[in-house]
Amino acid sequence: CGIVAYIGPKDASPFLLEGLQRLEYRGYDSAGVAVIAPATKSVPAKLKVCKVKGRVADLAAALPARFKGGAGIGHTRWATHGVPSDANAHPHTDNEGRIAVVHNGIIENADELRAKLAADGALFRSETDTEVLAHLIAAHRADGGELEDAVRAALKLVVGTYGIAVLDAEQTDRIVVARNGSPIVLGIGEKEMFAASDVSALVRYTRQVVHLEDGELATVRADGFRTFTEDARTVTRQPSTVDWEI
Ligand code: GLU
Repeated sequence: CGIVAYIGPKDASPFLLEGLQRLEYRGYDSAGVAVIAPATKSVPAKLKVCKVKGRVADLAAALPARFKGGAGIGHTRWATHGVPSDANAHPHTDNEGRIAVVHNGIIENADELRAKLAADGALFRSETDTEVLAHLIAAHRADGGELEDAVRAALKLVVGTYGIAVLDAEQTDRIVVARNGSPIVLGIGEKEMFAASDVSALVRYTRQVVHLEDGELATVRADGFRTFTEDARTVTRQPSTVDWEI
């Protein structure tokens, strides 16, 4: 239902929670966030996920004190596949907890993809159509290469509608987003970047936005973004300025 994402020098979670609150008017049954906790000398970068059935306020209350990281994604869910529950709330992750995905829309061939992925060892922890995306992207990342290429390859196998945002604990300098039938807008900040399913989540932070079109993806980094098609063709998008009052 609602998607937010942040990458930059600050902690992502304050923006994620506030952005999700601004999308509450759309209605939802659960909420969740994921951040990449940066690597320390002894521990590699690691994905942290917190998700609950209930309100964004319940999510804020459930968030551990140490939920730090400068790249993060968040979601408010309006269930289509699987009951409202903590397990079915987004973000969804792969077996290793390395890839995290939030998704608006419906994956129509989820059952078929789920059966194939499970046969190859994917451990499903929810009843959602969305979880197939996390395992599918992880399967393509296993070949090496870039996160955006794995996302493109995964989306080629998917039938349905999606707005998604994807984190990878092994490529901590980026968030990949994609749109097909469910909106995604990028927000351009000063050495920080935002994304959301609706511009109202962004306007307190930036007025410079780029609306993705159906069939487009973007790699979003703290210092900029690149938009491209599902066939890896780069598309150039000029930012537009939002001029309405908050
Ligand atoms: N189909 C997904 C689910 O049921 C996403 C629903 C949404 O758009 O919030 O979890």
